[in-house]
Amino acid sequence: MHKSLEQVWENCLQLIKDNVSPQNYKTWFEPIKPIKLENKVLTIEVPSQFVYEWLEEHYLDLLRKTIKLELGVPGRLEYSIVMENINNSQPYTVKFPAKNSNSLKNASVAMPLDISSTIRNPFIIPGLKKLDVDSQLNVSYTFENFIEGDCNRLARSAGYAVAGKPGGTSFNPLLVYGGVGLGKTHLAHAIGIEIKNSFPNKTVLYVPSDRFMHQFVDSVKNNSQNDFVHFYQMIDVLIIDDIQFLAGKEKTQDVFFQIFNHLHQNNKQIILTSDKAPVDLQGMEQRLLSRFKWGLSADLQIPDLETRIAILKKKMYVDGIEIPNEITEYIAMSITSNVRELEGALISIIAQSSLNKRPITLELAKQMIDKFVKNTVHEISIDYIQKVVCDYFDLPLEVLKSKTRKREVVQARQLAMYFSKSMTKSSLSNIGIHCGGKDHATVLHACRTVNNLMETDKKFKTYVSDIQKRIQVHDK
Ligand code: ADP
Ligand code: MG
Repeated sequence: MHKSLEQVWENCLQLIKDNVSPQNYKTWFEPIKPIKLENKVLTIEVPSQFVYEWLEEHYLDLLRKTIKLELGVPGRLEYSIVMENINNSQPYTVKFPAKNSNSLKNASVAMPLDISSTIRNPFIIPGLKKLDVDSQLNVSYTFENFIEGDCNRLARSAGYAVAGKPGGTSFNPLLVYGGVGLGKTHLAHAIGIEIKNSFPNKTVLYVPSDRFMHQFVDSVKNNSQNDFVHFYQMIDVLIIDDIQFLAGKEKTQDVFFQIFNHLHQNNKQIILTSDKAPVDLQGMEQRLLSRFKWGLSADLQIPDLETRIAILKKKMYVDGIEIPNEITEYIAMSITSNVRELEGALISIIAQSSLNKRPITLELAKQMIDKFVKNTVHEISIDYIQKVVCDYFDLPLEVLKSKTRKREVVQARQLAMYFSKSMTKSSLSNIGIHCGGKDHATVLHACRTVNNLMETDKKFKTYVSDIQKRIQVHDK
């Protein structure tokens, strides 16, 4: 009866953990603090309005059920939202390290203590004229042209939130990561463009990390390091693309660290992209990595078929091209690895047709794609396998990834694990994570079970070969 606040919330978290992916758990639930329990009303503190809205939109049902299980039918949940105080944006995914927090938050100068300071403390001179900076933004990379799908929903929404309130959300820095050609650069520009539109007075700058590095190296050569640092510290919204290139570049990381701290303390927005998750960024200084955790890291995944079709259609619309639906679909089904290749295939089909003055037919598309696909290595993804398996058994993906022990679901799940093992390079534990948070032993067991059943059960064997064919259709 008299469970403590902490106990109640702990129990809730256990239930939630079983029902969401580890990444989502970490992003949305870990930062929540329970603050009150009175008359079966549990009050939780969430870090921002955005998080509150996200929880309500995506996890209302789960939260409702959880509260009901923990507190019974009269149980209720209330939110308390941390005010997004512009002077002190709270750390978000990870707590501010306590031992640094005072020195940093109260520091009146920009430099944190641990920097090897060859550069003087830059103070912004009051009344200094606003910088006239060319933002270097590509005008066609807008939000409007960036198709939303499951693959990019979190990153896109966070980007949008940041654009509406640069420096004023807990997503600072916002780090967008994902493989090549999945839209990191596009999204980064979109945020910049949106900010420029809503806040014309803000100085926005997009810079690829290699350019940043070369500018820095030149400034050292020319003895104008101070100017370099000052320039960057006066930017309101700094977008650095592909920060993985800074790996191993210690001097550049040092100077970036200084700039980062200055901007962050002054509530300037920092947006970063990387082709790897922060944990996998080898050669990046720990103090930088830990700062990335102050904000939000959101990944971009490979878009599903529907999203790929929508992207192609958008692209054709923007370019004023018309192509029959069946051809668009054919391209979208054939090119599954990334958006850049998808667009590349479309462009080469269009180019072929206009060069040879041939109409765009399915025949032509097939020829081109055959050539195109041969030149690229294709990797089947676990997500893709799961989709095929779910389609085959007519199961919703959430059910496959859930904890349910229903026989049909267990079997489908085991098949998804089996194909993930045999057709991708993923490790057993990675497959487990993707299949609803199972461990490697479970995956191994699944693979053995499938092998056994194939030998003993004819019907099962047809399932396996049918699914295998379906997976391979799009993987030539
Ligand atoms: P990355 O920086 O991740 O390598 P890019 O941002 O350069 O990828 O994207 C590659 C191409 O794919 C660009 O032409 C971009 O406009 C397009 N693209 C990527 N994602 C989307 C999307 N969700 N909607 C529309 N176009 C996209
Ligand atoms: Mg890029």
